[in-house]
Order: sequence, then C-alpha cells, then structure tokens
Amino acid sequence: MRIDLHTHSTASDGTDTPAELVRNAAAAGLDVVALTDHDTTRGHAEAIAALRGLPEPAGLSLVTGAELSCRLDGVGLHMLAYLFDPDEPELSRERELVRDDRVPRAKTMIGKLRELGVDVTWEQVARIAGDGSVGRPHIAEALVELGVVPSVSDAFTPQWLADGGRAYAEKHELDPFDAIRLVKAAGGVTVFAHPAAAKRGRTVPESVIAELAAAGLDGIEADHMDHAPETRARLRGLAADLGLLATGSSDYHGSRKTCVLGEFTTDPEVYGEITRRATGAFPVPGAGGSPAA
Ligand SMILES: [Zn+2]
Ligand SMILES: [Zn+2]
Repeated sequence: MRIDLHTHSTASDGTDTPAELVRNAAAAGLDVVALTDHDTTRGHAEAIAALRGLPEPAGLSLVTGAELSCRLDGVGLHMLAYLFDPDEPELSRERELVRDDRVPRAKTMIGKLRELGVDVTWEQVARIAGDGSVGRPHIAEALVELGVVPSVSDAFTPQWLADGGRAYAEKHELDPFDAIRLVKAAGGVTVFAHPAAAKRGRTVPESVIAELAAAGLDGIEADHMDHAPETRARLRGLAADLGLLATGSSDYHGSRKTCVLGEFTTDPEVYGEITRRATGAFPVPGAGGSPAA
C-alpha cells in the first residue's frame, strides 16, 4: 500500500485543484492520500466529490485533514491534523482566525518588500493565489516572476521571506499544545509536520517534541523532503523512544514545489493506527472501494 499523508491543493498554496489532486493521486497509484491544506478544510468537499467520480475500481481513499500554523517561543511549526470533525466549533474558530489574518499579513510582507526596493504588488500576488488562501509561497512565486530569486525555495531565506526574514510578517498562530488539545477534542489525530526542517527557519529541540508527546501528540513526520537521510533516521529513533508514530509524506504542492505525490510514504501499520485513534471523521473510500484500513 502506498500512503501519502500530506498534500496541498488550491484551497491553500498548492497548484492542483482538490479534484485534480485526487485524480493525480489515483494516477500516481496511491492507495491513500490526505488533503492537508493550511488552516482550512475548504477543499474537502470538492476532493470527496472527485473521489466518488473516479472510474471504478478506484483503490484510492481520502483522509481529510489540515496543516495548522503554530508558534512556540518564537519558532513557527506546523501541526498536521487528521480526521477531526470539521464542524467542531472551537477548532473551526481557530482555523478562521488564522485564515482571516492571511490577507493583511500578505499585504504587510508586500509592503516590506517594496521598502526593500522590490516592485511587487498585491494585485500580482492575488492573481497568483487565485482563489486559494494567500500565503508566503504565492509571494515567493511573485519574486520568481520578477526575477528577484531563481526559485520559490530561494525566497524562503533570511534575506526574504523565511521566519524572521527581512520581509517576514508574523501571523495568528496556535500554540501547539492548544492545537493538540483542540484536534483531540474534535476527534482528530495530530502529527508534527517536518519537525527538523531547518532550512525553513528555526526548529524546536527534541525536549519540546517530548513535551508535545506528553501532551498527547500522536506522531511526527520523519520522512520528508526537507529532512536529510540521517535526520529521518534520528527522528524515527526519537519517535520510538517517545512512543510516537513516525509518518512519511510528500508535502506535495503541485508544480509550486519539486516533490511528487508518493515521494515519501507512511507504513500501513502506522496509517491503521491513525485511523483507529480518530473518531471525528473516517477515511472516504473511492468509488467501488472500501476504506483502506
Ligand atoms: Zn508545513
Ligand atoms: Zn505542508
């Protein structure tokens, strides 16, 4: 079984629509794909409809989720949340707070870039974002269009848009301990996304991962493109020590990043444990299929 538990659509900063993402996941031969847009469940309905419309027999199941923006002691971190009840009020209010902050935040970053002499405009960034919720990757793409940087990832540096970078602006973010509590209260499961992706900015020490584990964190994403092989091995060891699940996933963003669907995958036993722990929602089976766990 090939299980990819971390992808983005145009509902946040991916380039595939939710329907395209589902079709591409089926074409890539995945058995399970999780849709985990930043701070939103907006793409779920379209993804579910597309899944039901796949030609039979489609072996693909969809795990509904989100990637929640968190911050702890000044360090930005991402918490994957799976199979929570999207209507649970406290968690949905937090997602709204983060989302409502995205446009003013993008405008602040654009203002800082203009002060740095970059001729980027809100209109340009809004065009790139389309109907997705605007975020740093859209601004990064504008910088590529303008020839300021050669690629999106080159914009995520202290010189430009990395956490604490010259054009960075803070956003509303959850305390990760609150995120774990809220997701659990909504029947979901939490996995700390790319916990050691140092290229994106500062990361938290292992002692914090231990504290998050004690607070009910379910797992950590060990296999991720931003982790070197030795880092992946270290994180798997840490997960074993702390009794955490270790996942692997692509963090696919369509054509906005280089990774492909299924580039990293999650063990079926780990996936089975995630679905057993979740009570807020269930994986959605594809047409003619049954849930893959
Ligand atoms: Zn992330
Ligand atoms: Zn992501």
